[in-house]
Parts: sequence; C-alpha cells; structure tokens
Amino acid sequence: MAKNDLRGVAVDELTPPDAAVELEILAAEIAAADAAYYQDDAPSLSDAAYDALRQRNEAIETLFPKLIRKDSPSKRVGAGVAAGFGKVQHCLPMLSLGNAFSDEDVAEFYDRIRRFLSLPANDAVDIVVEPKIDGLSISLRYEDGVLVRGATRGDGREGEDVTANIRTMDEIPQKISGNVPAVLEVRGEVFMSKADFLSLNQRQEDAGAKLFANPRNAAAGSLRQKDPAVTASRPLKIFVYAWGDVSGVDALGYGGDVDWPDQGTFYERLKAWGFPVNPYAKVCITLDETLALYQKLGADRATLDYDIDGVVYKVNRLDWQERLGFVSRAPRWAIAHKFPAEKAETILNDIVIQVGRTGALTPVAELEPVNVGGVVVSRATLHNEDEVVTRLDARVGDRVIIERAGDVIPKIVEVLKEKRTEGAASWAPPSVCPCPLKTTTVRPEGEAVRRCSGGMECPYQQVARLKHFVSRDALDIEGFGSRTIEAFWEEGVLKTPVDIFLLEEKDGTIDPKLEEREGWGDTSANNLFESIRRRRTTDLGRFIYALGIRQVGLTTARDLARAYGSVDVWMRQMIAIVEDPLGEAFQDLSDIDGIGPAVVADIVAFFGNPESRADLDQLASMLEINPVEQASNDTVISGKVIVFTGNMEAMGRSEAKAKAETMGAKVSGSVSKKTDLVIAGPGAGSKRKKAEELGVSVISEQEWLDLLSNKNDQLRLL
Ligand SMILES: [Zn+2]
Repeated sequence: MAKNDLRGVAVDELTPPDAAVELEILAAEIAAADAAYYQDDAPSLSDAAYDALRQRNEAIETLFPKLIRKDSPSKRVGAGVAAGFGKVQHCLPMLSLGNAFSDEDVAEFYDRIRRFLSLPANDAVDIVVEPKIDGLSISLRYEDGVLVRGATRGDGREGEDVTANIRTMDEIPQKISGNVPAVLEVRGEVFMSKADFLSLNQRQEDAGAKLFANPRNAAAGSLRQKDPAVTASRPLKIFVYAWGDVSGVDALGYGGDVDWPDQGTFYERLKAWGFPVNPYAKVCITLDETLALYQKLGADRATLDYDIDGVVYKVNRLDWQERLGFVSRAPRWAIAHKFPAEKAETILNDIVIQVGRTGALTPVAELEPVNVGGVVVSRATLHNEDEVVTRLDARVGDRVIIERAGDVIPKIVEVLKEKRTEGAASWAPPSVCPCPLKTTTVRPEGEAVRRCSGGMECPYQQVARLKHFVSRDALDIEGFGSRTIEAFWEEGVLKTPVDIFLLEEKDGTIDPKLEEREGWGDTSANNLFESIRRRRTTDLGRFIYALGIRQVGLTTARDLARAYGSVDVWMRQMIAIVEDPLGEAFQDLSDIDGIGPAVVADIVAFFGNPESRADLDQLASMLEINPVEQASNDTVISGKVIVFTGNMEAMGRSEAKAKAETMGAKVSGSVSKKTDLVIAGPGAGSKRKKAEELGVSVISEQEWLDLLSNKNDQLRLL
C-alpha cells in the first residue's frame, strides 16, 4: 500500500485538492481491502484499520460533499461475486449497517430517531439489542415453507448461490411450518465457533493445508466450497435476525405477508420455525439499558464461544422502521456499536524458530510482555517467513501493534516503521535448523513452509514427535507435559515413542529415578506409569495419527483405519507399496476417498524410511491396537443422526462418537429436526432442551451403553 502523507492531516485542515487526492486513494485502498475480504477470504487489513479508513472517507465526504466520487466506498457494500458460483440477484438488497464507536454516537442515534419521528426528547424508543456476530451474511429463501435457495451477500445486490452447501448445515431447517408466508427470505450470519475454528486449523495444519486467519474466514471458506461434502464436514452454525423478501412486501421490505408488529415478535416467530436466534437478543427501553447490555456483552465477549465484533441496535417497532427507511447504504433504524479492538503496542524482542514434528520451521515473535484486553501476551504467531519478510517486514527491535481476538493466538498486525531504530537489519529465514545438528533447511518451490532436512535425526523434530505422540487426539497419555518430555529427551531417557513404553521398566536405571525428582514423588510417577499402561491398548485411527506421518492428520488417519481395518493389514499393504510402487496396493491406497497423491507419497516415504519402519514395527508389537469394526448398516442406529451432549463418563466423547460412527450412525454437533437421538450426560443444557422441544428422543449415557450392547428394550427409543 502506497504511503499516504495526507493521512496524518486532520480532515478539517485538508484543502479541496488534497481532499480529492485522498478520497481517490481511500477508494482504491478500501476496494482492495474489500476484494481481499469478500472474494479471497483473506483480509489484508485488521477490522480496526479498515473501519478507520471508512471513517476517514466518510468524514472527508461530509466536509466536501461535492468531491464524493462515483466509485465512493460509501456507495458500495462489500465486493462482487467470486468466480465459480452461480449468481443470485437479491430481491431486496442486503445492506450493511452504519457504525457507532462511542456512547455519544449511540445517544446521537437515539436523538436522530426521535427527531425523524418527531418524538419528544427523552421519549422511550424500544430498541432490540443483540451481539453482532463476526461471520458471513447469508440469505435463505423459503417458498411454501421449503428451503429453495441459500445465497451469500456478495455486493449486497448480487450474491453467490450456495444452496447445496447451505443444505448441509444442520441448524438450518429444510422445511418450516406454522403460519409461514408463501415467500419468506430469512437472513442471518453463518459462523464457526472458536473451538471448532481451532480444531479445524489443527486438522488443516496436520494435512499441510492452508490455515485460516480467524473463525470468520474459516466460516466463509467453508461455506464457499465447490464441494458441498467439504462444507458438510465443517461445523458451521448460524444465528438469524432479519427478513428480506416476503410475499407481497414493498421496496422497503414491509407490508404484504409481514404480519409481525415488531422485531422482537419476528424473533419469536423465527424460533418457532426452528431457526437459531441469538440468546442475548433483548428489547431495551432506555439508552442506559442499551448501553448496559453493550457493556455486558463486551465483558462476556472473551468467554463467548463465537466471535462478536460489536452490538447491533434496531428500532423494535416495524411502523417506525418503515417510516425511518434507508439512507445510502444503511437503514436509519439500525446501527452497529463496534467494540474497540483488543490491541497493544510493544517491542518485538526476537524472532525465534519453532520446529514441528515434520520439520516445518515456524517463526514466532517474542515480545516485550504487554497486557492486551486483560491477558498478558509475550508471544505472537508469525505464520511463515513470507509473513515476516514480505507482508510485515518485521525486524528485531521494532515497535509493533499486536491484536488479540477471543481465543485466537495473538498476532502482529502492524510494524511501526516510523519508530524503527536506524540500521535495524531485516530478518532473513534461517539457512540452518536451530537444532544442535544445524542441518540445512529447504523450502521447496511453491511451498510456504521451510523445513529442516535432518529428518528423524533432528533433535527438535524428535521432541515435537514425542509431544505429538502423547497428545490428546493421538495416544492421549496424561502426565506428559511439554517440559517433562523436553527434560526426558535431553537426558536421553526418551528418544522415540518406543521409549515411552519402556519407561517403567527402565525406571530403576534412570538417575535420578522418576519419584526422586523434584516435584515428582511416588504418586506422580505411578500415575504416569498407570496412564502409559492404560494406553497400551488403543485404536487404529489414533495409532496412525500418533505416528506423525507428514500430512496424515486426524481425518486421514481415521480414513486409513476404516479402509484397512487392522494394523497388520495396513502395514502389510503399505510395505507392499514400498516393494511394488505402482502395484495393486498402491491403487487401493490411492482410491481411498480424501487421500490424494501427495498424502500417498508421504505415507510411502514413511514406510520406505528404515528408521521410521523400525520404530513402527516395535510399537505395533508392543501395543494392542484394536481393529476398526467395519461400519455396519444393520445396527439399531445405522443411518441415524445422533448428538452427544454433556459429559460422557464411561467412555470419552470422542470414543463414544467413534463407536456410533462404527455402528453406522452420523454424529452431529447440533440438535435439529433431523436429529434422531440425543445422548445427554451430566451437565447437558441447551441441546437437551432443544431436543425436548423438538420431540427428539433423549437418553442417558447408561441407556446408550445398553443400546450398544443390544438390549432390545431400548429399540423403541428410535
Ligand atoms: Zn533440525
């Protein structure tokens, strides 16, 4: 982005020619940011920086109305349709909201409404207050109660047809009934929970795929998939909050079959039709009440399971909404009160390199510790070397702005180059691995990631592999913290996963013995041995994942487990490929759904490496690896949609889920009309309640276990 010298000048000090120049630059900058955000799902600016550009543009336009450009950002919403999707013309445009940034702005919003409606000052104005979900706006069209189309907002007038993808979302009803207008367009925000975002990114990383910058991008990227099956595999959620086209409405969206008198009643109708409406939505009578809810949401923000970037206020009464109407790109009767970004300025003390289990080198920023929205941050992700060198040009010693959103790892959003110490050297990617071997690094052409070439020999990769092996989705061995693994590795107690299972046997020869170490004692040593013993029995999917084969993430590992059934068959087949690279076994592997040539190559390389093979052979002989029961289509739950909620006590949630899938059920994360059965453990809350409302069978974990062991009296439940 070109440096703009005018940016530091106060708006009211700009001369008309300067203002014209800056409006031109702003139009180009905002258009570029819109394209990156809407079409590529890869924002080039932070939300706060983007808002600042828009605000400045608006301020200059207010002062110099004659200079407003034909391509002014204030006349546009978002960006056009990306190539590859069918286009949908919105019958009524999907507009965005004006912004308020302070309490005074909100008071002014109230005053404007009163002035417009000629209400006496201080007269009550009912306002619906609800969190502004940081997701992707969509429109759902129902004809005679049947979902016929789903579309993204696009530029507000024309969006993308994502009907097939929308249909995979459990939370969106395919059919609605009970006083439904002949045509009903429901609008809402599709989003991904913070937890689902983190685990999706973990899976992406495991698979060597692109990481998403934040939950919103993950939601947008997931919804805008060419293959609906990919969308179906992503845990998307929705909150709905508006209508668009309704049979017989006028150009503003009122009249016709719109027979709800206010926004609040409409939400009740949405709930009755089976749509998720945000539970915080509330009618507030006074400005104080409104601002108090804004404060509360701001305080709750970090603990919510989804990202919100502000609070939306809407005039409740429809007759007032209709009178207030629209101005340029936004309704007069609604406004978004944005939260300040959680940002802070600090010093980039160092850029260190982390080595992953497959040798990937990731730069990490070490920061002068700083408080960002209540959390002390001392490290930030730098993604990859292009981020450091090309996008940020970050140098050690620079003053930087870091931003933290929800649970997402903090990141550097800006380098304050004007504060840079003269002569600060630009950062260069390391030519050797930081590990003691100092092996050379390689970055294959076309890949974003640089790797250590040391392979199995690289000590850092060995440590990372051990950590991966014991991690939750892998063998899930409790008691092995990062520090413990590092210390054991350094002493030579643990080198490979095989050593984990020899630990108890060797304990007598280790000096000092585990229980004699500082902070250890009998109990912790015994607990560790116990949890290792417990995991000597595991299942094939976990085992394959735990091996840490490049690009073999959780999903791929499970696919392999399902396809081959037992560890013996799997190993025999993989070895067959090494011996006959293009034979039948190779074909079988390549034919597995979801396993591409690159993954095949990495699996074959793993089996072709004598060291990894030796470890694998030993592990396979030491452990009891349960075969995968083939998914069966004749159990009581085959083809049923099942939801687990609350705590599972007898078997963990993931085990219960795997079991259900083996028995041919589809496990979903949310309850809808399509759900056949809900298994509710202690602590079950909203999902249980929703199931009961929808008349879906709810059973306890014990009843579930009885069902698995085929006690026939439970069949009636289904
Ligand atoms: Zn290395």
